[in-house]
Amino acid sequence: MLSAGLSSCSAMIEGTSSSIIGSTYPSTDEDIYETENAYAALEAGLNRQINNMESTHPGYDEYWYQVDEISHNPYHLISYFTAKYGEFTYEQVKDEVEDIFREQYSLYVDEVNDTVTETKTVRVGESLGQVVTSGYCNCSICCGVWSGGPTASGVYPTANHTIAVDAASPFVPMGTKVVMNGVEYVVEDTGAFARYGVQFDVYYDSHSAASAHGHQTWEAFIADDNGNQEVEVTTTEVINRLEVTLMNHNLMPSCGAVWMKMRKSGITFTTGLTATGITYLTWGACPVAAVRMDMGMKSRPRHCRMKSLQG
Ligand SMILES: [Zn+2]
Repeated sequence: MLSAGLSSCSAMIEGTSSSIIGSTYPSTDEDIYETENAYAALEAGLNRQINNMESTHPGYDEYWYQVDEISHNPYHLISYFTAKYGEFTYEQVKDEVEDIFREQYSLYVDEVNDTVTETKTVRVGESLGQVVTSGYCNCSICCGVWSGGPTASGVYPTANHTIAVDAASPFVPMGTKVVMNGVEYVVEDTGAFARYGVQFDVYYDSHSAASAHGHQTWEAFIADDNGNQEVEVTTTEVINRLEVTLMNHNLMPSCGAVWMKMRKSGITFTTGLTATGITYLTWGACPVAAVRMDMGMKSRPRHCRMKSLQG
């Protein structure tokens, strides 16, 4: 895990090696590796959390991911602690490792309900597919204040003839003739039942017959009596989607979490050349040329440390 992370960043460091004037990490290898491994373990945990999203959040129609790569540059991490503390131990920076991790990564998990409406044209004689039907009559239980009155189209409803579509989201237009179970119905009425997944409400002349209908799935056809026109069919479906977004703000010292932390910590940034007793750490592609580091007696040449980290 560590070597994989280092190999990608060592390429970057090698590519700009001439600009690295010289630096070292005064901390022990053990503390450096412990710090790096702790960070990598947090990243592995985050990766697992995202990979297990569908088992920890079951039951969605769709899962949508926009996930940045989970990785960091170990040199940026270790250099940050070195710049801040000089010689540091893992115990000393343990809590801060988690703070930086939380600044580097933002995970958002959102539930989104999308109403998807699709319109297609169906020719006369063709199937509308399987539709869900319910039953109603003209009583006050079924029709409330409209009980006993005419349908939405103005005509009075008749059994084996009148069907209704949802008023807000009509499956087919008013007046469409539909054949189901060998009976030709006409859309003459409207109701509010699309939210129950019902396409047609079938009219009966008694409440007991309407109740007996329950919910039935029938195949529906556009009747020949519609003439030669095509009929526009509108289907509405609610998609329940889990949206997972992971943003990696990166440990780039110029713009990322570490840079902000360094600024907050009052660490000086310099763009000059080396001076006696002071070593500058130059960051690969970073526009900020150098981090001023006051090196202690334990300093070793940077290339030694690079080798040991790469090995
Ligand atoms: Zn009724």
